[in-house]
Amino acid sequence: RAVIALSHLSKTYHSEEEGDRTALSDVSLRIDKGDIFGIIGLSGAGKSTLVRCLNGLETYQGGSVKVRGQEVADLSPRELRSLRQRTGMIFQRFNLMPSRTLLGNVALPLANSGLNRKERTDRARELLELVGLAELGESYPAELSGGQQQRVAIARALANRPDILLSDEATSALDPNTTKSILALLRRLHDELGITVVMITHEMAVVRQICNRLAVIDQGRIVEEGRVFDVFANP
Ligand code: ADP
Ligand code: ADP
Repeated sequence: RAVIALSHLSKTYHSEEEGDRTALSDVSLRIDKGDIFGIIGLSGAGKSTLVRCLNGLETYQGGSVKVRGQEVADLSPRELRSLRQRTGMIFQRFNLMPSRTLLGNVALPLANSGLNRKERTDRARELLELVGLAELGESYPAELSGGQQQRVAIARALANRPDILLSDEATSALDPNTTKSILALLRRLHDELGITVVMITHEMAVVRQICNRLAVIDQGRIVEEGRVFDVFANP
């Protein structure tokens, strides 16, 4: 049932100028299939480091990071590529390519998928429809609102049919109403596609609105973990 399992994970950055900096310290947590799991903490708490460990973008000195049962540190380059394909990512900055249409942006991750050009465009159309932007395929990112751009980024993140979606501060740049609509979209995708969602955020309101479980991270340590209902019931 565990899709992601961290066990006693520790990560220290070494730098000549600043000395050692511990970003994660003895972090253990388990994210199950079907969770909408919130990881909440202030800036500098270690959230980005944790996400990079999950994707094999960062080495770690101690403990274990298992995604779908596989230890990330042990994966071959080919297995790592597959891990990243099956893990959709969205960010605060939408990172869309300004010179490409929405269809072109959404189709980008399909470049090496073995699909031909028409199949890629068809798939991109389907994805834009899924996020409610069916009519805007030929538009360019600059013509869209922030909320619409995030929808495009979500469509792109889903291109390779991931079973995990990692959201790294994806609503932090959006106003409250737009945030609500993006969270509603993520919940719908979770419900309809059975995707496990991991919400990295510094906003408690986001966790309250969408997550079923959460972990609070502070200075590299998990200081609270549990069902959202229970955590908020015990102030
Ligand atoms: P965030 O809160 O998203 O980590 P930051 O501005 O703190 O935003 O960091 C931006 C990027 O710089 C991240 O990839 C982070 O890991 C990296 N970073 C943060 N602190 C340091 C540091 N002391 N030295 C080098 N890179 C850092
Ligand atoms: P968050 O995403 O919660 O803002 P980060 O994971 O970016 O936190 O940072 C956790 C700690 O690790 C911070 O003290 C940050 O300065 C440090 N850090 C992050 N990335 C680097 C890096 N590449 N080199 C050195 N220190 C880093």
